[in-house]
Amino acid sequence: MKQYIDEAEALLMHTYNRYQIVLDRGDGVYVYDTNGKKYLDFGAGIAVFALGYGHKELSNALKSQIDKLIHTSNYFYNVPTIEAAKKLTKASGMDRVFFTNSGTEAIEGAVKLARKYYYKKHGKADSEIISMGRSFHGRSMGALSITGTKKYREAFEPLIGGAVFAEYNDLNSVKALINSKTCAIVMETVQGEGGIYPASKEFIEGIRALCDEHGILLILDEIQCGMGRTGAMFAYQKYGIKPDIITCAKAIGCGIPVGAFAATEEVAAAFEAGDHGTTYGGNPLATAAVSKVFDIFESDNILAHVNEIAPYLEQKLDALVNKYDFILERRGMGLIQGLEFKIPVKEIIEKVLNAGLVLFTAGNNIIRFVPPLIIEKQHVDDMVGILDQCLSTISK
Ligand SMILES: *Cc1c(COP(=O)(O)O)cnc(C)c1O
Repeated sequence: MKQYIDEAEALLMHTYNRYQIVLDRGDGVYVYDTNGKKYLDFGAGIAVFALGYGHKELSNALKSQIDKLIHTSNYFYNVPTIEAAKKLTKASGMDRVFFTNSGTEAIEGAVKLARKYYYKKHGKADSEIISMGRSFHGRSMGALSITGTKKYREAFEPLIGGAVFAEYNDLNSVKALINSKTCAIVMETVQGEGGIYPASKEFIEGIRALCDEHGILLILDEIQCGMGRTGAMFAYQKYGIKPDIITCAKAIGCGIPVGAFAATEEVAAAFEAGDHGTTYGGNPLATAAVSKVFDIFESDNILAHVNEIAPYLEQKLDALVNKYDFILERRGMGLIQGLEFKIPVKEIIEKVLNAGLVLFTAGNNIIRFVPPLIIEKQHVDDMVGILDQCLSTISK
């Protein structure tokens, strides 16, 4: 592996501090490195592999689409995209979809749609978007502009104007920013990268009410917390509210790079031909993946499984919180969970990796748990066993 790693470090831009492992293949909830060492994967390629690695039915659907037609351009219609759009609108309660290649592009599109909606309604541009502190929406110039972590933004300014930041779960901080220019409020239903913070019920209900009162669009970023991870297809369904625009990516293609933003009919109508476009977005290979992923969610009862297994994971993580006083708390919803530590967690992550367990951080002192949604109790036990063992060697 050392030789591969040296080559990678010589050839690739230094934008990541990677784990010193070269991954080779995956199977179910396990990945293997090029030496054949096996890892239990509670990161799932950052909440991507909801169905685990190498799901036979998904692989077969992709293979047959590759043989049939990979790409068409959006000058034409294609059947997998229509099928995928049917399933996504049905699952989300939205009416119209635009497929993208990534989460970042879904955010870009959602922001453009909100601005166009405002432009049509008010006959002028120069609108504002309220975003949240600690939020993460992607790395392009537009997505960065509404990303709440200053260190990601600072070196790249000036970004797009008209983005202001409120405090997550603090309704008054949002109210204070609303004015006649506000076109949208954008937030993650459960904040991911920022440290696994679910929205409080009062907050998200309050935001919906504010949006209704002032004619503002609510954009919910479900890129990480959507697609069944919380135990509902989309996290907002757990709260019983409906946004005007949603963004999806990560698990929606289970490894095929694809994202989407979707909106209600009224909002989507703001876009006219020529307002937005993409070469690859919604190509038949990507949307064949989306379509099959929705099928498998239904046939394999993924949501019921998440609702059954998540309380078990919570209970096991809570036991760790009780056992170690350097763990502050557990937060999360369903199979997106975080443990906040008093200490940096980098060393813990490296230790568990050596012991054959993949865990990611979400900030300096938070361990994030975003396993494949198909994990069983045994996998939770194995994960907690390794983590507990490593924690017991940490000097406080
Ligand atoms: C990952 C993520 C994004 C960005 O998605 P990419 O596919 O990496 O472009 C945006 N928002 C949230 C909440 C994410 O977790």
